[in-house]
Amino acid sequence: MVRLLVLGGRFAGLTAAYTAKRLLGDSIDVTLINDTPYSAFRPNMLHVGIGIAKAEDYEVDLNSALTAKGINFILGRVTGVDAKSNKVSYSTKDTEDEAIEYDYLVFALGAKLGIEHIKGWNEYGASACEPELAKALYARLEKFEGGNIAIGSGLFYQGTLTPRGNYPKNWSTKIDSACEGPVFELSLMIPPFLKKKGVLDKTHITIFSPGEEILTDISKESRNIVKTMYSNQGFDMVWNFKIKEIDKDKIISDDGKEIKADLAIILPPYEANDVVKNSTSDLFDDGGFMVTDEHMRSLNYPNVYSCGDSNQMTVPKLGALATQTARIAMQDLANRLGVPTKIDSYAPDIICIADNPLENTAISIDDTTLYGGDKSIVQASPANHIKKELFAKYFMWTNGDMVLDKYLGSG
Ligand SMILES: Cc1cc2nc3c(=O)[nH]c(=O)nc-3n(C[C@H](O)[C@H](O)[C@H](O)COP(=O)(O)OP(=O)(O)OC[C@H]3O[C@@H](n4cnc5c(N)ncnc54)[C@H](O)[C@@H]3O)c2cc1C
Repeated sequence: MVRLLVLGGRFAGLTAAYTAKRLLGDSIDVTLINDTPYSAFRPNMLHVGIGIAKAEDYEVDLNSALTAKGINFILGRVTGVDAKSNKVSYSTKDTEDEAIEYDYLVFALGAKLGIEHIKGWNEYGASACEPELAKALYARLEKFEGGNIAIGSGLFYQGTLTPRGNYPKNWSTKIDSACEGPVFELSLMIPPFLKKKGVLDKTHITIFSPGEEILTDISKESRNIVKTMYSNQGFDMVWNFKIKEIDKDKIISDDGKEIKADLAIILPPYEANDVVKNSTSDLFDDGGFMVTDEHMRSLNYPNVYSCGDSNQMTVPKLGALATQTARIAMQDLANRLGVPTKIDSYAPDIICIADNPLENTAISIDDTTLYGGDKSIVQASPANHIKKELFAKYFMWTNGDMVLDKYLGSG
């Protein structure tokens, strides 16, 4: 039987594993390796960060979810991919040096949060990007009694997109921040949280970005709407701020600029997953992201696919692009294995709903201008908040099998 090995168990890896099984049934043996026993629904970690949800409520138990669909699960930490001999090495809690062979591989390990690029992170850094970070953020917000808060993102260590994959040029480009959606969402969530706590009047908020403005991946007109919103709320805005250091009461950029911050809430710098360093090097570009064609096949090793944040093509790093790339990859695989299947065309679109759950509203963004399109929508409505809630519930109901996610993403 053909062996498919999927590395990573979040949006991209889960979509790949479920889609492969749906399309290929018993003719394929699917195994997924992930380093945690559960898959955390990342978008709602922000809700955990402001204390209105528990991280445990957004965890899919991978062993039961996958085995119920006939997919094998290994709880282990992948350490390297040898694409020349079709082998992946990994460790588990009991063994250091395991190896597993594959016929086809899906590399969906995402990107790494490069907190080591920020001096002082361990003492003062705060974020909501992973369950433990989100819980720690809530602990700090609970104690916050007023002062300065800075919200922004670190740099994206993307490399130069060299070599480039074999796909239309406009699908991928250099960007300063890997994903500023969570920053935007936090800028909506934090003020109502502080208001409820009674300390909003005693707090000054600064929004910063490493880019020439926040959200440079959407149109100028849409950005202006966001900036007007920030001005109306009295936020300071600081652009071209490439954070290098966090101190007790300030953050410092690489060129010595400072922003007052008793609490700095940051989307950490993104960089390639550590596994890349110990893997066949010509799978990746100079930033460590995998170089593929438009069906997500590695150019040099066509039995290796890369989906989601680990693929060079996906910018910004978004769940909606992760599920889309995983679906396309497995449609391609089904055809190669003799099951005629329509292969979707990759249609990059920046779709995100920035939730404001304490005020029962949300702002949706739907924008294709980064890719040369003309769609540019920013829309606030209570219905968007319901959509975001539904998005999370759908992930949990389906154990991360996001077949209909495209209907839940935009406004
Ligand atoms: C706070 C936050 C909120 C977001 N909100 C949204 C949103 O609302 N909508 C949206 O579309 N996108 C959102 N995003 C972006 C989205 O979460 C990512 O684009 C998406 O998670 C990428 O999916 P992925 O499967 O490619 O990678 P990841 O989500 O990074 O998953 C990688 C998986 O691989 C595992 N892994 C990593 N290394 C190893 C290893 N060595 N061995 C074994 N397992 C390993 C990880 O534990 C993880 O399960 C958000 C991002 C953040 C940080």
